[in-house]
Amino acid sequence: MTDALHQAQQLLDFIDASPSPSHAVSVIVEKLLAFHFIPLDEKSKWDLQAGGRYFVVRDDSSIVIFVLGHQAIADSGFKIIGAHTDSPGLRIKPNISAGADGFFRLGVEVYGSPILATFADRDLSLAGRISYQDADGGVSRCLVNFDRPLLRLPNLAIHLNRGVNDDGLKLQKQMELPLLLARAVEGQLPQDYFLALLEQQTGIGKAAILSWELNAYDTQKGSLWGANSEFFSDSQLDNLASCDAALQALLDESVLQSDATLVCAFFDHEEIGSESKKGADGNFLPDVLMRIGYALEAEHEDVSRALANSFLISADMAHAYQPNFPNAYDADHKALVNNGPVIKVNASQRYSTESLSEAQFAQWCELENVPYQKYSHRCDLPCGTTIGPITSAKLGIRSVDVGNPLWAMHSIRESAGVLDHHYMIKVMRRFFTS
Ligand code: ZN
Repeated sequence: MTDALHQAQQLLDFIDASPSPSHAVSVIVEKLLAFHFIPLDEKSKWDLQAGGRYFVVRDDSSIVIFVLGHQAIADSGFKIIGAHTDSPGLRIKPNISAGADGFFRLGVEVYGSPILATFADRDLSLAGRISYQDADGGVSRCLVNFDRPLLRLPNLAIHLNRGVNDDGLKLQKQMELPLLLARAVEGQLPQDYFLALLEQQTGIGKAAILSWELNAYDTQKGSLWGANSEFFSDSQLDNLASCDAALQALLDESVLQSDATLVCAFFDHEEIGSESKKGADGNFLPDVLMRIGYALEAEHEDVSRALANSFLISADMAHAYQPNFPNAYDADHKALVNNGPVIKVNASQRYSTESLSEAQFAQWCELENVPYQKYSHRCDLPCGTTIGPITSAKLGIRSVDVGNPLWAMHSIRESAGVLDHHYMIKVMRRFFTS
């Protein structure tokens, strides 16, 4: 297997083990521990050593990872890659729907902006975390993953929805999204039925279960496809592919010996605007960087100087050109799959890129012999955004928004290019070591 195929398979394995943002962070933590990273608790005092490897998890699903360089942070700054751990989809509501016409169904909220039609007719399962009363009378939590087809959103037959191929599949969010779980059991309340399922899966008594954060996910594993296996598909490529590229770049002994301080910051809640205590618009990353300064006994001005000397790569997927829909794109800015990472530019700063950070990223690509592309959205379509502008604004750090070309962004099954993932890892490694 070539390097690139191996790296792509590593990404798919990561995604398939990460059916929720909390699972993604727990898989990342395992990888970090294998490289001798030390967990830090936000409630404890931090004792940091130059050359040390650390990570901080906030509320299970956001993580900041850093490797302290031997150079003073005021001089070398922080080299940061930012990305997000969450993906759009369906989140289970707290109360299970009363049995409707003989079925138990799970009511859902739409999280972010998924392409809802892609959730129909898939073998869906459930994952996330539950909180429960523990033996000491406190509240504990644990991850849960059913890991088998459990739920479904069956389409209507075409005979009952004749217009579907002309009008598209439109799902009314309140009435038409609840997921089928089981035939109703006579005399059993739906809430009780669901709690019993959770008990079976986790071993925690249903009477002790107090709350949950659960999302539906597709049980189909990632796959390589195309005549030469040059593409891959999976759920959550936006944005676990960027988290994975950053990790593959970082977790290499030669990179980890860096003189500068390297940081990876992966946030939950990007798809709903980042405004939360663990989102990019919260204080998580600023607080960690500040505490690195305190622990090193840097003066306040040193931290400001460190930020001024820092650089952020905000990595999130880009819209790949789909040749069947040429009119959806600016004809001069087509991001082609397997043609290299995309630098995203937007005059309204929906992307944080400016000409200097754009040039810097382009230069790293050239030094690595990696092709790169530039993307600008159609002027007559609203442009999405990323954690880049928020993080860059909060910290005053120069930043570039980049990402690999992705087909079907926010579908339950997205796809992208094997070579692009390889290229992105190479450029990120160059960033960390330059
Ligand atoms: Zn994204």
